[in-house]
Amino acid sequence: MPNLMLTNYCNYKCSYCFGKDIMFPKNPRQTMTRDCFNGIVEWVKKGTSDRIFHLMGGEPTLSPDIDWMVARLLEEDMHITIFSNLATPNAVELAKKINNLPVNWVVNVNDPAHWNDIQRKNITSALEILKEKASLTFNIMPDEDDSLWALEYTKRYHLNNNIKVGFLLPTYNQTNVALDDNEYTVVAAKVTRLAQEAAKEGVYLDYECGIPTCAFTDEQLGILWRCGSMLQSGCQSRLDITPEGDVIYCLPMATLGKKHYTEFECYNEACNWFAQRFAPYRMLGRRVECATCNLHNPLSCNAGCLAKNLINSKNIKL
Ligand code: SF4
Ligand code: SF4
Repeated sequence: MPNLMLTNYCNYKCSYCFGKDIMFPKNPRQTMTRDCFNGIVEWVKKGTSDRIFHLMGGEPTLSPDIDWMVARLLEEDMHITIFSNLATPNAVELAKKINNLPVNWVVNVNDPAHWNDIQRKNITSALEILKEKASLTFNIMPDEDDSLWALEYTKRYHLNNNIKVGFLLPTYNQTNVALDDNEYTVVAAKVTRLAQEAAKEGVYLDYECGIPTCAFTDEQLGILWRCGSMLQSGCQSRLDITPEGDVIYCLPMATLGKKHYTEFECYNEACNWFAQRFAPYRMLGRRVECATCNLHNPLSCNAGCLAKNLINSKNIKL
């Protein structure tokens, strides 16, 4: 089921944000209404997809209706994950209010060295409340120290012992800061070191989408496997739905095409529509070697991020 953008506003302004093309301030500030939310819930129920809703932003705790939306989804017996940076006072209040409910949180964090005092207070207060309901996710930076702070926070606040890491991916329009091609191996080495340290603490890595398998050496892939942090990263988005109800494939591809959810019979139909439209472009790959690479299949490697692979392709027609 979809990722719902409850708002396109975020209290952070991260240089690497791959939502920039549809977020404030490049676009007017938007917040999903209760009517739009209800319409999407009914629309999703018409199909046969799983019962998982991701509530995201921007920063979703800045939506004035998020607690009402959580209650509405629970009435429908849906599984909910909130993707939040926890750095807002609203996040702390929401964590207190719904902590007894079956809701998971994925916490997007930057290195704590970059937090200001207010952000630190909000994030740590919310983590103290959420404990194992929260898991950390962050991008591994090519030019920063190894991210051992993530292990320390996971242990200190008794968080979920799975941490999700990502590579900095570009939007199709290249409006954000992303990895250069030659930085992929730098980040892969950092991921491998983090996985080794994590395993000593009983913590394991998961991976965001768009990570090419060949960023890692065979030896590094073996180490990850032995650490319980086997590399698994595809390019198959749960579709995102903007605050106005437009369906997009994912944030980095937002400017390539969108359709209002009401133009599809149900969520499954929207998934099929995007899968078919993007299928011809999948063969492009990340580099020429992808054409003959025996890993080039959805289970082993999706040839990295499609938004990145499409950057030099113009006149794309969906
Ligand atoms: S194009 Fe694929 S890999 Fe890139 S962000 Fe979108 S879903 Fe993820
Ligand atoms: S499919 Fe392409 S990106 Fe993936 S491992 Fe093979 S060569 Fe690398």
